[in-house]
Amino acid sequence: MKAFIDQQREFFGSNQTKDLNFRKEQLQKLKTLLLSNQNRLNEAIYADFGKSPFETFTNEFGLVFLDIDEACRKLNRWAKWKRVRTNWVNFPGKSYIIPEPLGVSLIIGAWNYPYQLSLAPAVAAIAAGNTVILKPSELPSNTSKILAELINNHFDPGFFHVLEGGIEETTALLEERFDKIFFTGSTNVGKVVYLAAAKHLTPVTLELGGKSPAIFTEGANLKMGIRRLIWAKFLNSGQTCIAPDYVLLPKTRKDEFLSLAKAEIEQASYSIENGNYIQIINDRNVQRLKKLIDPDKVYFGGEIREDLRIIQPTLMHHVTFNDAIMQEEIFGPILPIITYDSLDEVISEVKKHEKPLSCYIFTNDSSLKRKLLSELSFGGGAVNDALMHIANSHLPFGGVGNSGTGSYHGEAGFRTFSHYKSILEKGNWLETKLKYSPYSENKLKWIKRLMGI
Ligand code: NAD
Repeated sequence: MKAFIDQQREFFGSNQTKDLNFRKEQLQKLKTLLLSNQNRLNEAIYADFGKSPFETFTNEFGLVFLDIDEACRKLNRWAKWKRVRTNWVNFPGKSYIIPEPLGVSLIIGAWNYPYQLSLAPAVAAIAAGNTVILKPSELPSNTSKILAELINNHFDPGFFHVLEGGIEETTALLEERFDKIFFTGSTNVGKVVYLAAAKHLTPVTLELGGKSPAIFTEGANLKMGIRRLIWAKFLNSGQTCIAPDYVLLPKTRKDEFLSLAKAEIEQASYSIENGNYIQIINDRNVQRLKKLIDPDKVYFGGEIREDLRIIQPTLMHHVTFNDAIMQEEIFGPILPIITYDSLDEVISEVKKHEKPLSCYIFTNDSSLKRKLLSELSFGGGAVNDALMHIANSHLPFGGVGNSGTGSYHGEAGFRTFSHYKSILEKGNWLETKLKYSPYSENKLKWIKRLMGI
């Protein structure tokens, strides 16, 4: 482990990654490697939790390829030295900002989108000129193994290397000094990573989770909203960090909502055979989710096939904020619906909880939209949609408070893995005497006058 880090430090010191063409070549090489091994990569993730090639492309590689293409297209612009204005105090001079790579980066991935959550941060790190040690999640073991095999066989270990492992190996890795740590996972482990990074004052990006609400207002377009909401909730069997965790709904629209949501689930006919439904990652999570389903509150679904690790898409009604399902991030295919009389009460209830990673607002009322968007704090989200904000690389993606710190995708990813070095360059043809001693009342008067005080 230590040897790989030392090797990367040496590679970074050689300045090869400072060359923008080198970065673009490596990104293209990664894309070609992934494309030419699509079948094996698809088989590995299917073996892990039944993810179909369709979803593997749309939710995993598609986003990574978009990131690679965008980085290659825009890298020259992102990496450019940027001129900024110079103030009179520094006359005669010019000022500029130089983006520079941080150095050796450690990327720790989560299991739920095991390719995307490992590779998209790696793309950002490479684009910004860093070397990368990637530690994918150990839970989807086939996925982790094939990532290690492909990357380690095709990239210089001094530049990009995969180290597999679980808690023990990650703990050991975190003892070492990195120049950047990018972590995706749970809030609890995020705290462990943050603490470990503090020892070396390593900058950290934490992409964490939380309970993301979907709030419907009185006049919301239920038909369209429910179509988008149900897709977003049950994609990946609800094992999505930005999945709508629960619904807040005006009491008056409950019956209409429930029957439309049920119809939407039925028409999607979720199943492994259809390629639109995947397994729960492991038995421990099946048992955890089982405990969250209160049979008395199931409106639709609730069936569990423990042998296949499959939970039927489930709608729960009559739910309150005190129920077990509202005490933790669900991260599974169960959608609790809480009805409300007053939107203000709902806002104050949401505010009592930790800041979520996402919030989805379904409304046709622009003043309510503004009210919710300005009063609630959350990582990011959508109005009249759910999840799809992640597919716009112009929107920095990340959490706030307990749902994370920092962001990535597109230029935000480049910035996350860069340091912006500020430079003042002075001309040598003039120097005023004002700041030099001996000081005098007259000099101070002039300084104040120039400052407008
Ligand atoms: P996790 O925190 O259990 O694991 C994430 C990574 O940390 C894994 O690589 C794992 O090996 C490592 N790890 C686990 N325990 C550790 C420990 N004690 N010390 C050091 N390393 C440790 O998270 P997970 O179960 O893989 O993912 C689920 C969570 O991740 C959910 O909360 C979800 O919301 C969140 N998530 C967030 C995003 C995002 O982009 N913000 C994306 C996906 C998942």
